[in-house]
Amino acid sequence: MPVGKWKIVKKKCSFCKSRAVTHLPYCKRNVCSEHFTRMFDKRFRDTVRLGRMIDKGDRVAVALSGGKDSMVLLHSLSKLSRDFPFEIVAISVDEGIKGYRAPLIRLAKKECKKLSVEHVVGSFKAETGTTFDSVFRKDRKNPCSYCGTIRRYILNKAAREVGAKKLATGHNLDDVVQTFLMNIMRNEPIRIGREGSGDDFFVPRMRPLRKCPEDEILLYANLNGIPAGTARCPYASFAFRNHARRIVKESRERYPDSVFKMSAAIGVIRDAVRKRGGQSATEYCSTCGSPTKSEKCRVCSLISNLKN
Ligand code: SF4
Repeated sequence: MPVGKWKIVKKKCSFCKSRAVTHLPYCKRNVCSEHFTRMFDKRFRDTVRLGRMIDKGDRVAVALSGGKDSMVLLHSLSKLSRDFPFEIVAISVDEGIKGYRAPLIRLAKKECKKLSVEHVVGSFKAETGTTFDSVFRKDRKNPCSYCGTIRRYILNKAAREVGAKKLATGHNLDDVVQTFLMNIMRNEPIRIGREGSGDDFFVPRMRPLRKCPEDEILLYANLNGIPAGTARCPYASFAFRNHARRIVKESRERYPDSVFKMSAAIGVIRDAVRKRGGQSATEYCSTCGSPTKSEKCRVCSLISNLKN
């Protein structure tokens, strides 16, 4: 089942005589299905290897939403684990968004079964006593801020409970650059320094797809028969991310390699922020013990507001 559309190229592959399936403007190459898949796999493996993301025998939790990025991540990690021994456990989060998340979780469950991967599901309602739909009915201001914060909390909690050493997320190249721009636009440089860091409370994050453009992930899913949900969250139009998404899309259309360059610059800026100690917290939350800059962390404040 194809999960999206991409531009058909009526040319030969730059590496062989087969018909190309896409054109990669940043390297000025046309590639056939086989060469595209090979390039994608190599980029994925190099990102994991050069970033020293996984150690032998690690238990790696995968944040599995059921969308294309996380499903490709699951498949790519599963493929990698055949050559390099490590364990995978998938974690999905049910926010309680009617008609949206349940079918994606069903799809995720089915895929995990096929790949023999353990799958656990965390729930917004179990943590906060309410569903995200109910929260939105009361406070329409920043739905994604509530949802994203609590989802990250649930993912981290579940990853700790299943004994994961790392938490892999499906953030792609576009997501990484968008997040960076959002942190700048919100004047929150401290968040840039936090990326990938872990401590006693936070399971270290890894983003093995961070060098893969979004449209290539979609193409990879299609070419390799990886199923993925295409439903759009009903609250997506409220997301601040949409603004950053437009900027990144326009940059790519005008200057095809600009997004790769921005991504490379993020690493340098992150290291500079870390050097200044920008990522460290000075206190610990009085409720959950997570590092924070105030007496109560943002998640515990949100959860207590929701419970009250
Ligand atoms: Fe949550 Fe916003 Fe994503 Fe919907 S779009 S799942 S509300 S973060």
